[in-house]
Amino acid sequence: MVDDGSEPNQSSLSCARCSKPAHLQCPKCVLLKLPREGASFCSQECFKESWSSHKSVHMKANASSLGTGAAGDKNSEGWLYCLKKGQARTSKLPNFDWTGSLRPYPISSKRTVPAHIELPDWAMDGIPKIEPESSLQHVVEIKTPEQIERMRETCKIAREVLDAAARIIRPGITTDEIDRVVHEATIAAGAYPSPLNYHFFPKSCCTSVNEVICHGIPDARVLEDGDIVNVDVTVYYKGVHGDLNETYFVGNVDEESQKLVKCTYECLEKAISIVKPGMRFREVGEVISRHATRSSMSVVKSYCGHGIGELFHCAPNIPHYERNKTVGVMKAGQTFTIEPMINAGVWRDRMWPDGWTAVTADGKRSAQFEHTLLVTETGVENLTARLPTSPNVFPWLNV
Ligand SMILES: [Zn+2]
Ligand SMILES: [Zn+2]
Repeated sequence: MVDDGSEPNQSSLSCARCSKPAHLQCPKCVLLKLPREGASFCSQECFKESWSSHKSVHMKANASSLGTGAAGDKNSEGWLYCLKKGQARTSKLPNFDWTGSLRPYPISSKRTVPAHIELPDWAMDGIPKIEPESSLQHVVEIKTPEQIERMRETCKIAREVLDAAARIIRPGITTDEIDRVVHEATIAAGAYPSPLNYHFFPKSCCTSVNEVICHGIPDARVLEDGDIVNVDVTVYYKGVHGDLNETYFVGNVDEESQKLVKCTYECLEKAISIVKPGMRFREVGEVISRHATRSSMSVVKSYCGHGIGELFHCAPNIPHYERNKTVGVMKAGQTFTIEPMINAGVWRDRMWPDGWTAVTADGKRSAQFEHTLLVTETGVENLTARLPTSPNVFPWLNV
């Protein structure tokens, strides 16, 4: 925080959180030369409490400076190029120590959502408002039977949308085409693609190719024979979210990648098999880590499973790595995701300058699978389970 130099009693600015007289300025806003209104706080406490929602004004500023040519700092260049809608991702790459051979490509224009679709609160301005302020960031909700029924419906739509994406994957298509299929299938079901404009994410799903761990942005890159690609779908329908992902083979994939994807699939299956009332959340990481280590693979630590329901992301936070310090036990009626990211090489991740794309630090490949789960009285119900209609894309599921 930066003191604005004025005496507290002379300050005409009020705290963006509590409206008391404010004489502290958010340092990032100062750097970006943003207006003091909305960037002023009375105390470190109010600044800290506001951070999860406030930080999005920085991204918004970076995005809007595209049109005006206003100066941003070095980091904002990531946003500049990724939001330049199909222009700058190839012509001028930012300086970055790329960890593997993958590069960003142009991003197509933002897709539209018809008026009859119910929107989450970030759809219009990119800023989730209810989510960061909710007590459900700290307390794990026990869903009512009525909420659970809506979760079932929404999660089934999410599964069908992901399956639609899986059916088109082959060498020669772009990840942007995957995004188009996800977007159109979601809307055809009467749902909203939750990632679209969530903290300004520009697309309707995440597509993570090869060394991308998660949150890859669908773009104009053509999938090549031998790639692996994870597609992560979340849909919002009847006021609740359903979230799942799978990693697919593009054409003929080498044996090492096949081993990685199969091992990751098994890690998730093993984790789901222990879910029941009374189980410690931290055990999930033990089970996943044991299986990954046995195959000499590593577990990503920076991204975790999460509670889900009326909020996209909430408590509990579920790490996938061993010896994590997560507290609490599972209870019937809770809904959360488990979504292990397993790396062929080191566990460490790096972030591309677009602020979203997480890649392996050594450029080796990473795979992921995810389900939304309900804890039942006797065990677990997989709300995003494969359906009889799901495409047959994993050789190890053939008996
Ligand atoms: Zn997901
Ligand atoms: Zn998730």
